Amino acid sequence: MSNQPAIGNLNRTQAILKKYGIRAKKSYGQNFLTDVNVLKKIVAAAEISKNDNVIEIGPGLGALTEQLSLAANQVLALEIDQSLLPVLADVLSPYDNVTVVNQDILKADLPALINEHFADPSKPLKVVANLPYYITSPILMGLLSSPVHFDCICVMMQKEVAERLAAKPGTKQYGALTLAIQYHGQAQIAFGVSRHSFVPAPNVDSAIVTIEPRKEPLARLPFSQKTLFNVIKGCFAHRRKSLRNNLKSLLGKDAEIMGRADGVLQKLGLDPQVRPEKLTLLQFIDLTNALHEANLVK
Ligand code: SAM
Repeated sequence: MSNQPAIGNLNRTQAILKKYGIRAKKSYGQNFLTDVNVLKKIVAAAEISKNDNVIEIGPGLGALTEQLSLAANQVLALEIDQSLLPVLADVLSPYDNVTVVNQDILKADLPALINEHFADPSKPLKVVANLPYYITSPILMGLLSSPVHFDCICVMMQKEVAERLAAKPGTKQYGALTLAIQYHGQAQIAFGVSRHSFVPAPNVDSAIVTIEPRKEPLARLPFSQKTLFNVIKGCFAHRRKSLRNNLKSLLGKDAEIMGRADGVLQKLGLDPQVRPEKLTLLQFIDLTNALHEANLVK
């Protein structure tokens, strides 16, 4: 335990930045959280206990890492910016349950890292992070489609993106990203965070999202996930157009093909004029299934 103020304390953060001559790198999405209350609320939202192993993406100066280390069994933090490694080694030296590795989360071999660094990899595994916003979607999709099961993913992101992840059908935020996340788990906004809680302040507000990944796949599909998401993306290609017109762009204007597509919509009881954002994930699955049976998608 350190008797210094928490790393996320504004004065301490500024002292660390000055001591190491660090300037936040925009290219790596570096905005450091300087609100200890928010840091503690993130740890509470992820319900971290001493039985949990935690993976943190982008420890930065170690503000969230420190709070995680106090609450968790072990913390493994992946930081892309090599120049922060000596800083992290110094500020996190009071904590013996933290390992920082110089890795790009988009390229990392997570199963290998988990086996190498956690003393007991069978413990519940959670991901907690203040994400680099420029790669929020690829990071989330990578985590959700990885062979590793996470008990909880609790991450900070741009507020607008958080609203898209947790959107309800029929709203303007609801779309392909919402459905991609829903396919893998349940997303909820835990709380919002002002841009003024960061140094430097980003030009957007943020929110914490918790995602509970499904333990079992949603359904056994007779087609690939890629087919499902091609249909979903195709149906959202022109949000102001009807479902039928989007299908026309996706499948081709051929009268015979559209005749079969109309038959599919009729069979499913779907109004051809409905806007795509009204459909639930299960309706998109049924639609893809019926299009697949009618040989309209592979
Ligand atoms: N966790 C710190 C905090 O809350 O103050 C810093 C968060 S900052 C928004 C994002 C962090 O992710 C930065 O430290 C950045 O260098 C790191 N980062 C950016 N791209 C990354 C990647 N591909 N893999 C791992 N870390 C990355």
